[in-house]
Amino acid sequence: MLLLLEDIKVKRKPIYHIRIKATILTENMTRIVIAIGGNAILNPVKGNPEEAKQKIDETCREIAGIIDKGYDVVLTHGNGPQIGNILAMQEECGLVHPQPLDVCGAQTQGMLGYSLQQSLDNRLKRRRMDRKVITVLTQVVVDDSGSSFENPTKPIGLYYQEYRAQEMIALGTRMVKDKNGYRRVVPSPEPVQIVEDEAIKKLVSEGFTVIAAGGGGIPVIRKNGLLTGVEAVIDKDLTGSLLAASVGAELFLILTDVDKVSLNYGEDNQLELDEMTVLEAGRYIKEGHFGKGSMEPKVRSGINFVNSGGRYAIISSLEKALPALEGTAGTRIIR
Ligand code: ADP
Ligand code: MG
Repeated sequence: MLLLLEDIKVKRKPIYHIRIKATILTENMTRIVIAIGGNAILNPVKGNPEEAKQKIDETCREIAGIIDKGYDVVLTHGNGPQIGNILAMQEECGLVHPQPLDVCGAQTQGMLGYSLQQSLDNRLKRRRMDRKVITVLTQVVVDDSGSSFENPTKPIGLYYQEYRAQEMIALGTRMVKDKNGYRRVVPSPEPVQIVEDEAIKKLVSEGFTVIAAGGGGIPVIRKNGLLTGVEAVIDKDLTGSLLAASVGAELFLILTDVDKVSLNYGEDNQLELDEMTVLEAGRYIKEGHFGKGSMEPKVRSGINFVNSGGRYAIISSLEKALPALEGTAGTRIIR
């Protein structure tokens, strides 16, 4: 027993040493905002809790590796599959009153924030790194001036068969049809401001690894200076670029399920890109190279970030995250 305690003492670094390391290093570290897709956390719809836990752990292993390389990480995440599951439970159960989308979004920030925070904390502990992880419940003010609320465009949740879709439409739900069936569509307005940005910035500068603005943030608007939630979802990559600018990040890394961004995606002449300038990226968007609700907002977010003073943005996959940061993988969006 005594021997075991000695063993632990020898292995552990003295606390004061670790504290110094944490404060000194953050100043010299490259600050980076990393956005991970909801699908990197859970397979759509069916993913069971064990599977989700394992996926989150794999994700956090990579993130801890990035922190260990000297990056000061702020993490944000998607919530598509998770919010879809909450809606499915509400719709199919019939016993409880469905909650509005802002409340559903807040739920996903809580459940994913908890899981990521615990898992990342454990991964950092295994590396004997003394960094504290904290999740901030984050509201994001959205732009309600345009037509995004009258003409909802973002499909979310389950696919429904015709008869069920007709019932839902009769009850006032907006639905769109694609090749897989009917899906609910909701507004996806532009994010304008992160309500908790001051608190996030303080935590980051104190050396915390912060998880924030999950699922693109809880959508809110300001009425006479007061906040109120709205029935919408926000693109997590667009909010990610806002977060990156507001914490003064040098880099913005978007991790999804493709290693690189392509031109002529899915065609015979598909071309994977190593790099594009913001001007080129804007032109490619106009030419329609990127999926509307998938790759296009990522590229737009990269452009936004660089235009707001960021050094460059990278789009790649979780598996290629470190090589992408070292410049040997992924697609960079530069000035
Ligand atoms: P996430 O859940 O990580 O946000 P999305 O599914 O929204 O991921 O976006 C990533 C997807 O974008 C890829 O799986 C790919 O199928 C699609 N995509 C659309 N256009 C392109 C493109 N031009 N290059 C690469 N991937 C593209
Ligand atoms: Mg997406």
